Amino acid sequence: MPPQHVAVIGGGLTGLSAAYRLAPKAKVTLLEASNRVGGWVGSPKQHIKFTTPSGEQVEGDVTLESGPRSIRPKGLSAASMLKLTSPAARNRFIMNNATGKLMAAPTSPLALLSPKTPAPIRELLLGVMKEPFRRNSPASADDESVHSFFLRRFGPKVAATASAFVHGIYAADPNTLSVRSAFQMLWDYERGSGSLVMGMLKGDKAGKARELEAWKECGAWGERRKNWAMYALRGGMSELTDRLAQVCQERGVEIASGTRVERITPINTSIGSIDADHVIAAVTPRHLSSIASSPLPHLIANRSTTVGVVNVVFPLPPSQVHPDGFGFLIPASDANRAGVLGVIFDSTALPGTEVPELEGKITKVTAMMGGPYWSSYKTGGSVAPIPSKEELSEIAVNYLRTVFPHLASVDPILTKANLQVDCIPTYAPGHGSRMRELHEAIQNGPWQDKLSVGGSGYGGVSVNDCVYSGEILADAVGEKTGLERWKDWN
Ligand SMILES: Cc1cc2nc3c(=O)[nH]c(=O)nc-3n(C[C@H](O)[C@H](O)[C@H](O)COP(=O)(O)OP(=O)(O)OC[C@H]3O[C@@H](n4cnc5c(N)ncnc54)[C@H](O)[C@@H]3O)c2cc1C
Repeated sequence: MPPQHVAVIGGGLTGLSAAYRLAPKAKVTLLEASNRVGGWVGSPKQHIKFTTPSGEQVEGDVTLESGPRSIRPKGLSAASMLKLTSPAARNRFIMNNATGKLMAAPTSPLALLSPKTPAPIRELLLGVMKEPFRRNSPASADDESVHSFFLRRFGPKVAATASAFVHGIYAADPNTLSVRSAFQMLWDYERGSGSLVMGMLKGDKAGKARELEAWKECGAWGERRKNWAMYALRGGMSELTDRLAQVCQERGVEIASGTRVERITPINTSIGSIDADHVIAAVTPRHLSSIASSPLPHLIANRSTTVGVVNVVFPLPPSQVHPDGFGFLIPASDANRAGVLGVIFDSTALPGTEVPELEGKITKVTAMMGGPYWSSYKTGGSVAPIPSKEELSEIAVNYLRTVFPHLASVDPILTKANLQVDCIPTYAPGHGSRMRELHEAIQNGPWQDKLSVGGSGYGGVSVNDCVYSGEILADAVGEKTGLERWKDWN
């Protein structure tokens, strides 16, 4: 019999998405430790007022994202709440660590051949062309790090550039991130076709067909998203979590924020005064390990990365601050003393998210910092202690002035630093096998049918992954552990 009363622990994207989908089927209580729902999603507004060089008085509320802001147009989501990004957002840049200049990242493999593509990027082509002829196998048949995979398949230049993309998604060191868990498709391409390039050319026909079906269910939005590079929410990402919480309540979900769960037991899953038949743990594995009364394996195997997120607003239109585009990522380098991982050009990456009074009059950028450059993540000669918020702001503005020297004489209207402690997990090599064992432990032990788990700590960190994880948990509550993706992992 399906559970009658489900307790969802954690009110981030995963927990909210699970509660939203469960509510019509069962009584749901959502327990969130902090006083607000949303988890890492946060879009506070701040009022700004300034005079332009031509004497115009400008004022309005600017949205400052402290967590996620951009969503890939992939998977099923609330399309009616989304808006198009401009074609400019297709332009992405990579920092050339040798020259300190931005290089346009190729938008397709063919673009690598274009004479307009900078020489260091074109050099990557050589590594890509040689890849199908490389026959070297990984040291371990189970998994390896992202760095070791790219080094083996493409050589050192491509491996160094790949670190920039790892910074952009995981804010992690590519030497410590599992390629098989974080970029499973690449691993499968090599396994299936003996080469990544050949695998990509062949494509995954079955996977594509499944995705096409999913897009059909989105109707007209499914068609329109073909032109999108990314999408965002007008008013910020918390529009999504706030609205999810509102609909949950309308559907009868009891949301208990400011309620930290201290202990859960597998016998009657009693949480404080709540008696639930089933618990959905939408918290990180580490948090789960501290509240689970009966032991579960591997919950503390992965570390998480701490990220400084600094929003900076300049009193100039974007065209006077930076090139049109999404932003830039910086490949790993011991010489990166500022510890900046990348910079997002919010105003051109996600236009239309500002109130009309400010649109086109200000430039908002976000510097992402820290992760593998800080001693909270690893020890060693080149890491630095975590800076204070004041220091973070100063480092970010100085860094932006190094990349864009014309900003030396422009004072930001606003700088807001957020320190996001242990916010993104790094799936260490072997993660998939550990998740299989966790799945088996839940399925066959005292937690059987009583507990399911999901969210960024288990299988995918993106907004899409977390929303999808909530959907899976809700659809098969009491039947699945949430870790079925890993059950055949060897
Ligand atoms: C700075 C940053 C930028 C990002 N940018 C993007 C982006 O642009 N695009 C993208 O797709 N993804 C992005 N991500 C990733 C994505 O935002 C996260 O992976 C996602 O929000 C995680 O959601 P979650 O619900 O799994 O976990 P969380 O957001 O961590 O939610 C878990 C919740 O559980 C609560 N909790 C913990 N313990 C307990 C307890 N004992 N009792 C009750 N409650 C508890 C916590 O308070 C928290 O609210 C970004 C992440 C960060 C940190």
